[in-house]
Amino acid sequence: MESVSQSMKNMMGKLNASDRYRKLVHHALDDSDVQSFLEQNKQSLDKDAIVKSLSNLYEFVTEKSKIKNGQNSTIPGYEPKLVLNNHLIDVSYRPTKETINSRKQKQLQNRIKMLMMPKDVKHASLHDFDMDENSSRLNVLEQALNFVKNYHKTNQWIPGLYLYGSFGIGKTYLLGAIANKLAENGVDVTMLHFPSFAVEMKNSIGNNNVADKVDAIKKSSILMLDDIGADSMSSWVRDDILGVILEWRMQNHLPTFFSSNFSMEKLEKEHLSVNNRGDDEPLKAKRIMQRIRFLSKECLMTGDNRRPQ
Ligand code: ADP
Ligand code: MG
Repeated sequence: MESVSQSMKNMMGKLNASDRYRKLVHHALDDSDVQSFLEQNKQSLDKDAIVKSLSNLYEFVTEKSKIKNGQNSTIPGYEPKLVLNNHLIDVSYRPTKETINSRKQKQLQNRIKMLMMPKDVKHASLHDFDMDENSSRLNVLEQALNFVKNYHKTNQWIPGLYLYGSFGIGKTYLLGAIANKLAENGVDVTMLHFPSFAVEMKNSIGNNNVADKVDAIKKSSILMLDDIGADSMSSWVRDDILGVILEWRMQNHLPTFFSSNFSMEKLEKEHLSVNNRGDDEPLKAKRIMQRIRFLSKECLMTGDNRRPQ
């Protein structure tokens, strides 16, 4: 059986149409999308549909070829699609695959707030987390996957992870990978390098906006404090910044992740107990540690130092 587009071409040959008009019709009817649209909708189309809709068919093929040739289309980021409209042919526009992907990527980026974090953490992925046949790494990865899996599932409280181990083994990378996975699942995550954040808070005192900044951070669904214990803290940072954030999160059951070179016990005894002026404040340290212990589960991580020596 003759195709719709072929019979239309034959009809044009018999008509006394101008060359230009004839060329236009041929050009439109040679397009494979046009051909399959006509075939699929031949029962519903008006018998003059092609003639009456010629300008739309023409628009469709020219826009399509602009996109194919990498030129700017009339609506950048969108591609034309033929649709049936009252027995005639119309063109509608839908976002291209690239547009949909970049929107998804943007939404993802909006869900993750990374403050003072290294750039490569943005692309960290749980798929790339190597295990080196090392049981502590396997255990840590299992814990991370369990958290991601169960976070939305249960109404039960799930603590975050407190990852500790030596320098350069990928603790920050793993936190980033967990953050990216959670954001993909639609969760708001804030990740910050704690020592730099502490300095920023100190510098914000003069601007009177410490409370606003602390507020925004403490309320994030998931908070990740990277490298806690790397720099000595003032009592103010420990009690009025860290303490306030952790207190809020404990009361509101908001999981919190940490990474540190210290185990929880060492963090308490060797870091939080002594402020940056050398004063011994074990009770204050105990209070902070109680909150950290509530909010997260301690996980030892081992492995090779990946940083260039
Ligand atoms: P830590 O926080 O334990 O000191 P990092 O997470 O900063 O270690 O990791 C050290 C370096 O190794 C970083 O440059 C990081 O991007 C890289 N890295 C760590 N784990 C991986 C991984 N699984 N795949 C690729 N790169 C990794
Ligand atoms: Mg780190």
